[in-house]
Amino acid sequence: MVTPGILYIVATPIGNRADLSERARHVLAEVDLIAAEDTRHSGQFLAQLGIKKPLFALHDHNEAARASVLLEKLQSGLSVALVSDAGTPLISDPGYRLVAAVGEAGLSVVPVPGPCAAIAALSIAGLATDRFIFEGFLPARSAARQAKLAALVMETRTLVFYEAPHRVLECLQDMTAVLGAERQAVLARELTKLHEHIYRARLGELTEQAATDANMTRGEAVLVVAGAPEVPAGAERESLQVDKMLIALLPHIPLSQAVDLAAELSGERRNRVYDRALALKKTL
Ligand code: SAM
Repeated sequence: MVTPGILYIVATPIGNRADLSERARHVLAEVDLIAAEDTRHSGQFLAQLGIKKPLFALHDHNEAARASVLLEKLQSGLSVALVSDAGTPLISDPGYRLVAAVGEAGLSVVPVPGPCAAIAALSIAGLATDRFIFEGFLPARSAARQAKLAALVMETRTLVFYEAPHRVLECLQDMTAVLGAERQAVLARELTKLHEHIYRARLGELTEQAATDANMTRGEAVLVVAGAPEVPAGAERESLQVDKMLIALLPHIPLSQAVDLAAELSGERRNRVYDRALALKKTL
């Protein structure tokens, strides 16, 4: 089942250990070497499966250098599996530099698919899944987070975010401020674990709930947010885009800064955006 010189990208559970596929277990038991984000964590996981293999640390800070060592091992005929702490490697986890290097060297990279928190959250969110975008983690600082969200105001595809528990509330607050309180959203917490909980509400309600219910901001979380409604094409769409950006930005940053940002993002002339901002400011 395992072939020499191949790199296997192996998904592991995001909580429930029974989600490890039979194929994943088999590959992990058969390869010569396992590259892991955190060798202590993965060592414990493998020990529970009764698997003992040489482990090789590969994380964000050493990936570039370590990838060439792993490449040599693959070229010498060893088979290697890459795992992350949980879920699918490379998805908000290390590994893409290694995969690129192995691909460029003409060697095979084989996926062993399985759990992924973003896909698990989408599968139960009940929001449109025909098209979605994965934004991973938003910036930790509020100003940078709001700017990133402002750039997504017109995005019509469903939005998927990862978030650390201690930032869930402030992230929801910024989403409500920038994307609007009315967007339908889902907070998927502790998926596949004992305290799995799915909260479905509009962004404004979710934020209010998170401010009073401490459970909502505990454990691991994925946020899924409905995309912006489709709007008419042409000039009407452009002016609506500018309005939406300004409505999101004006309460938080100085008018001239909001105008600069909206003009840059929309491609509209600055003086037109400025006039619109002055008119909107009176109504906000
Ligand atoms: N590679 C992983 C995957 O395939 O989902 C993601 C790794 S990323 C470093 C960790 C983030 O994934 C967490 O902060 C959380 O946002 C999300 N996550 C991981 N496990 C989760 C779970 N059981 N329930 C909800 N979110 C989870």
